[in-house]
Amino acid sequence: MHPEDDRNSRALLLRGGTVIDGTGAPRFGADVRVEGERIVAVGANLAEDGALVLDATGRIVAPGFIDVHTHDDQIVLSAPRMLPKISQGVTTVVVGNCGISLAPLVHANVPPPLNLLGGPDKYVYPTMVAYVAAVDAVRPAVNVAALVGHSTLRVATMDDPYRQATPAEQARMGELLREGLAAGAAGLSSGVFYATGAAADIDELALLAGITGEAGGVYTTHIRQEMDKVLDSLDEAFATAKRGNVPVVISHHKCAGPRNWGRTIQTLAHIDAARRDQAIGLDCYPYIAGSTVLRSEMVDGIIDILITWSTPHPEMAARRLAGIAQEWNCTQQEACERLQPGGACYFQMREDDVQRVLRYPATMIGSDGLPHDQHPHPRLWGTFPRVLGHYSRDLGLFSLETAVHKMSGLSARQFRLEDRGEIRAGAYADIVVFDAATIRDAATFEQPKTQAVGVDCVLVNGRVAYRCDETGLKGNGRFLRRVRQQTSPGA
Ligand SMILES: [Zn+2]
Repeated sequence: MHPEDDRNSRALLLRGGTVIDGTGAPRFGADVRVEGERIVAVGANLAEDGALVLDATGRIVAPGFIDVHTHDDQIVLSAPRMLPKISQGVTTVVVGNCGISLAPLVHANVPPPLNLLGGPDKYVYPTMVAYVAAVDAVRPAVNVAALVGHSTLRVATMDDPYRQATPAEQARMGELLREGLAAGAAGLSSGVFYATGAAADIDELALLAGITGEAGGVYTTHIRQEMDKVLDSLDEAFATAKRGNVPVVISHHKCAGPRNWGRTIQTLAHIDAARRDQAIGLDCYPYIAGSTVLRSEMVDGIIDILITWSTPHPEMAARRLAGIAQEWNCTQQEACERLQPGGACYFQMREDDVQRVLRYPATMIGSDGLPHDQHPHPRLWGTFPRVLGHYSRDLGLFSLETAVHKMSGLSARQFRLEDRGEIRAGAYADIVVFDAATIRDAATFEQPKTQAVGVDCVLVNGRVAYRCDETGLKGNGRFLRRVRQQTSPGA
């Protein structure tokens, strides 16, 4: 028998570790016993009783991390080992953020930003059911929960997504969204910041948010503007969610551009006030640079811009736009035009804002990593260890218990991932074992594809899916269907 098969047919006992259970509660010493897919016992000195023992002495045993903000729709199928994520301790990714989802769409022309996931050859799932089947057939290393993207719905139903949709087109979007939710999608995402979503008014968004709310899903949004109009844009998101009677998650919250640095004091107070009245969550990545497709209106001549890919000039990936413009003897605007289509990191935030948002109690951790970029933002490989190591341990921004909560228990509750995100008897055995003293991100803007340090072992659905000293482990992830809302009696 192959040692891996032997290991996976037996109960597992994680012995001698310190449990941080994901709820935010203080750590405690305990063994954790896993049988099949679930944790069956958490306690002191559990009997071995035929189990294979994994020594966790001196290590933290925590729920596997949930990356609530990803663009991993396609990579979970084409590179299912998911090394950038599993090596950080991530056991579940939420795909389909920012209005961009791989399903439901089959299209000959894939406009930006949908091209973040690949070209028309990748958009081959006419329904969410087809996408779910593809994920479950591949069995990637991590679990997958999916949002239905609003821009994807618009491109699927309109000949021209840059205008207002007709009532018939909106009705068709609603049908596709219902299909996605029925297939188990976690909710709806929008990216009204992007051209493919920007022409939608609040009536269209509220209609779709309402369908999502009825099904018990969540609405996430990359708001219309994160610069001077950030407050108005937050208000639009709150009003949309309120009309749709749905919880909302503000994606990668930030105040971008030098004129807005320091304004997270204002935006977080604004969010706090609105939270008295409706359910609002946030996600955030732990870096001062954002990353997306190349957009000329983001080239202001002030902030630093790092090219991550360029179709006409792949040799310019990993170089600064200012240097390219100098070499080409043109303005940064002109250089940006010549590099299109492409992507970039924009150094558009200030450190105090990033820390303020990370610290905010309703903020979850989401990487927003872009797995198809030639020279990706380091958040793809470093987000979770960076929060645990740099921000929690080294800077003392919050306790390790709080850091873990923001990437497990809080996230599972927000996205209604049942029996995930906690270490307790009965929960799925998605578990990460790491060294609190050494965990750190190693990916940088210069060397972004560098594996983090300090994660020893990761379990997904009860099976060892990653060990720092072992390769070739089989994936055990699956598609996570949204828990159906309880129908109230008589309804
Ligand atoms: Zn976004």
